[in-house]
This record gives sequence, structure tokens and C-alpha cells, in this order.
Amino acid sequence: MAATKKTKLLLMFPKELTGEPATWVLVKEYDLKINILKASINYNIEGRLLLEVEGEPRKINEGIAYLKRSGIKVEKNGTSTLIDTDRCIGCGMCVAACETGALTLEPYGKVQFSAEKCLECMLCVKACSQRIITNAFDRF
Ligand code: SF4
Ligand code: SF4
Repeated sequence: MAATKKTKLLLMFPKELTGEPATWVLVKEYDLKINILKASINYNIEGRLLLEVEGEPRKINEGIAYLKRSGIKVEKNGTSTLIDTDRCIGCGMCVAACETGALTLEPYGKVQFSAEKCLECMLCVKACSQRIITNAFDRF
């Protein structure tokens, strides 16, 4: 059996594709395991879906190609965690709150973020002393 890998995909649906059964197709046609991390779909308006997909790298790429062909925008290693790092004071409150190691402090004191390690739990949003961490799905 070929080796599998996990990757996070942020899908953005235009209004005419909000009814597209994209996750079903990824499972059925590309043999991918799907974990829905966040979803916000307003039928016939717009939609966002944050997925963790697991499967053979070739099938993941084919699945991404299918999504793009369909007109769905796809961001690999996408995340809903947005950090305005220009305003970061390096206090480390978010780093202490993050249980996955997705946040670290750079030597010169700014926070550094790894979308790959992030579980989208949003604990850091509440922890940030400067309120500069936001959830992209909240603005949607
Ligand atoms: S959302 Fe959760 S996992 Fe992601 S960086 Fe914030 S605290 Fe860490
Ligand atoms: S809590 Fe906010 S200000 Fe402090 S290090 Fe994290 S992102 Fe920067």
C-alpha cells in the first residue's frame, strides 16, 4: 500500500458552487479521508470549508485539481488563524496557550505560526494580550 500523508486545505466556494458535494467527491473519487475542521456555508451566497485530508499524495493532488477545475479556490496548508504579526509585542501569552507547538517566539520577539501544526482550536485568540489573533471564519 502506498504511503499516505495529511494536509490541510482551505476551500472557498463562490455562490454558484455552494451546493457542490465537494467532500463527497474527494472521498468517493479520490479515496481521501476527510476531517472537517471548520465550515461556514451560506447557500447561494458563499462558503468556506477547512479540511484535513489524508491519502496518497498523488490522490490528494488529483483531488485538488478536481476542486480547482470545478471553480473552487483551494489554499494548501490553509488556516482560519490570522495573526497581525506587525503588532505582536512578543509577550508569549499565545505560545503558552497553544498545546500543539504551532506558535513559537522568534529570537527578536515576534510570534511565528505553523499552519501545519495548528488544530484551529482558537485558544490563542482569547490568550493574546493585544487581541491581534483572529479567526477568519468569524469575519465571514
Ligand atoms: S488555534 Fe489552537 S492550535 Fe492553532 S495556533 Fe491557536 S492555540 Fe495553537
Ligand atoms: S499573545 Fe499576541 S502579542 Fe503576545 S506573542 Fe502572541 S501574538 Fe504576540
